[in-house]
Amino acid sequence: MPDTEPTPTPPIRVTVWHEFRHEKTNPRVAEVYPHGMHEAIAAGLRGKPGLSVATATLDEHEAGLTEERLGQTDVLTWWGHMAHSDVQDLVVERVYNRVVRQGMGLVVLHSGHFSKVFRKLMGTTCDLKWRVDPPSKETLWVTRPGHPIVQHVDDHLVLEQEEMYSEFFDVPEPESTFLISSFDGGEVFRSGMTWTRGAGKIAYLRPGHETYPTYHNPAIQQMIENAVRWAAPTLPTAPHTFGRRDLGWVGK
Ligand code: ZN
Repeated sequence: MPDTEPTPTPPIRVTVWHEFRHEKTNPRVAEVYPHGMHEAIAAGLRGKPGLSVATATLDEHEAGLTEERLGQTDVLTWWGHMAHSDVQDLVVERVYNRVVRQGMGLVVLHSGHFSKVFRKLMGTTCDLKWRVDPPSKETLWVTRPGHPIVQHVDDHLVLEQEEMYSEFFDVPEPESTFLISSFDGGEVFRSGMTWTRGAGKIAYLRPGHETYPTYHNPAIQQMIENAVRWAAPTLPTAPHTFGRRDLGWVGK
């Protein structure tokens, strides 16, 4: 009898990328995220079955996203805000190509909407309306039950304090919109959306202003984990082999 043991599925290799600047200059952010926001995001992923988790930050060599690091990344999560312009264009190009050509998943968080790489992938301004003060209560409503990113999440979720983001959010029409937020001022925002660019899957998840403990929230952690699993590459790693593929015109 042949050995029928199934081949173990390799883990999804996640890199949590963070610009990691607010924590160094704003005591409030350092208080909420004493080890950095990337460590809070990574903490929600570490120890979960089938995930292997690393972190990278802007002040590392080549923003921590060397060819080698990206070559070992199946899904990249991205949080940036005050230092979008400090991300070198060569790094942006590298991340873009890894998504589009090689199918790396990208999970863009909160103010990552204005990152160079997200704007390049979307091809639009990615602009939106926002208000930091006063903080707003945010209610996130699931608008696409059954979508993998909202599995095990309640039909709505309340964050008592968040930054307000409002429409119009200038992104291309998404392939799915799985969350819509409402805010104190009556504003609404498409807080969870997905796209495909080339071989890669891209998810945007809105919550996560740096002065609020959003990334310690178990429901938000669950959605980030779901988004990572959803965005993992599905393309085969071996080159495709056709059964028959004649050269030239069909039928000749
Ligand atoms: Zn913010």
